[in-house]
Amino acid sequence: MSISPSSLFVHSFQSLGAVDGPGLRYVIFLQGCPYRCPYCHNPDTKPFVGGTEYSVTALCDRVERYKTYFGESGCHTTRGGVTVSGGEPLMQRAALAEFFAECHRRGISTCLDTAGMEPDDGVRAVLAHTDTVLCDIKHTDAEFCRTVFGTSLSATRSFLSACGDAGCEVWVRHVVVPGMTDGEEHIRALGVIAADYKHVKKIELLPFKKLCVEKYQKLGVPFALAETEECPKETIERLRAILGI
Ligand code: SF4
Repeated sequence: MSISPSSLFVHSFQSLGAVDGPGLRYVIFLQGCPYRCPYCHNPDTKPFVGGTEYSVTALCDRVERYKTYFGESGCHTTRGGVTVSGGEPLMQRAALAEFFAECHRRGISTCLDTAGMEPDDGVRAVLAHTDTVLCDIKHTDAEFCRTVFGTSLSATRSFLSACGDAGCEVWVRHVVVPGMTDGEEHIRALGVIAADYKHVKKIELLPFKKLCVEKYQKLGVPFALAETEECPKETIERLRAILGI
């Protein structure tokens, strides 16, 4: 994938999702992710090859067609809007910053769904035009993050600080996997991390599901958690109670 700063490589679109940020949102899944979450529900977005190239203008035009569904926020942007997910959207941060800036010029609210990364000038340029960040904290143990997910907890923490500096509202997200991320101490630690950032407005616990199994079969790639049970609703309720959410 050769990335032009004014174009984005898109894996797919979802019209008017209700679970990816405030209000109704047009969701864009970008191609390419360097991480290796064992539960990844979008394994086909991971390769840095493929995807369809869209110019920033073409992508904004596409989103703008849905603007009447986004609702009014009472300020200069809509309540709903566009969410960019992945893959890891920050891997295309130069064009993403341009895209979000253009969305703001057109009065469309922007939301970034990311695992975060060490903030550089490109990341800060994206955050300057981001209203809401959905930040996925993979695990509360730094070594586990590094060895299992390929992420850095300290980078995620630096990213969360940068979100605050940029004035973004943050929703922390966490996937609850039986036997991996469903321990009560672990969830308490998640709450402690989130409480360090006053701009974190919400914590969402997402139950591990196996809806992606067919995708793995089609790709001919083994699914690391094939033998793991889905996370029951009762577990989520119990862990939510621990966090008081
Ligand atoms: S960050 Fe998202 S796309 Fe990347 S491996 Fe994890 S779940 Fe999959």
